Amino acid sequence: MAAQIINGKALSAEHLAGTQEAIIKFKARGIVPGLAVIIVGENPASMKYVANKEKICQSIGIYSRIIRMPAHTPQAEIETTIRQLNEESAIHGILVQLPLPPHLSTLRLLSLINPAKDVDGFHYQNSGKLFYGLPSLLPGTPKGVHEMIKSTGVTIAGKDAVVVGRSNIVGKPMAIILMNEDATVSVCHKLTADLKAYTSRADILVVAAGKPKLITADMVKPGAVVIDVGITYVDGKVVGDVDFQAVSEVAGFITPVPGGVGRMTVAMLMANTVEAAASIEAERLSSLG
Ligand code: NAP
Repeated sequence: MAAQIINGKALSAEHLAGTQEAIIKFKARGIVPGLAVIIVGENPASMKYVANKEKICQSIGIYSRIIRMPAHTPQAEIETTIRQLNEESAIHGILVQLPLPPHLSTLRLLSLINPAKDVDGFHYQNSGKLFYGLPSLLPGTPKGVHEMIKSTGVTIAGKDAVVVGRSNIVGKPMAIILMNEDATVSVCHKLTADLKAYTSRADILVVAAGKPKLITADMVKPGAVVIDVGITYVDGKVVGDVDFQAVSEVAGFITPVPGGVGRMTVAMLMANTVEAAASIEAERLSSLG
């Protein structure tokens, strides 16, 4: 059986079109959603991601400002920049591109972002809301994966879901999203004794480990939804965590790499920026009485 491909390119284009429509309505009211991205240092992958975000912002009408800071920038200087952006009315979303150079406190910088402008959804106030099942700005990657799973038409409630990886930005929020959708969720990591025992019973398998070909065909339940979040550069090519060719023969649905989750992550960031703009502008209007 050949799995159906979950086409990240097509699905992200649909989401971006919806976001663009919302932007057009905003602009008719004289509001331009604005996103500020802070990038510290010259990590090549980060520079590429930031350039892509800027390009997509421009293509759908979001005002984007890239703030480039040298790798040795002191923590205090970045904190000042974040505080200024928190106050700036033209900016509705603030994102600090990760990873940061080691002398900086990522947690402190992320927690300084106004939670209403936290379009990456990494502020503990937004993670806390997710934990409680309250509406919040969700991290783009797990939010995008959730949309991809929904696009298959497969019911999440009551299913066995396995998330490989437990990072704060992908694995943990992904597990909570699936739990909030009434899946029975297992989270695996490096010390999981028998990874295959978990993955092979998953109806929904999300893999975010950063280990090429970690998931082979014998580790996948026939008909499962397999979402490959992994991005690793091997000989200049982007590869995921799943042995795509072999697993396609077993799974019911599968995401490719490239052309899968990465595209959705950016589309969700754009959606979050517009969502943030909507609540900030609504708040502003209500404060005017
Ligand atoms: P991370 O912080 O390095 O976390 C990786 C997680 O995978 C950790 O929890 C780790 O376990 C677990 N892991 C590593 N090797 C494993 C193994 N052999 N068996 C089981 N678990 C294993 O990475 P991340 O930021 O979550 O990102 C994960 C991958 O997704 C990376 O390839 C990254 O580039 C990619 N990514 C893609 C997108 C996108 O838009 N497509 C967005 C974000 C990240 P421990 O906790 O025990 O160390």
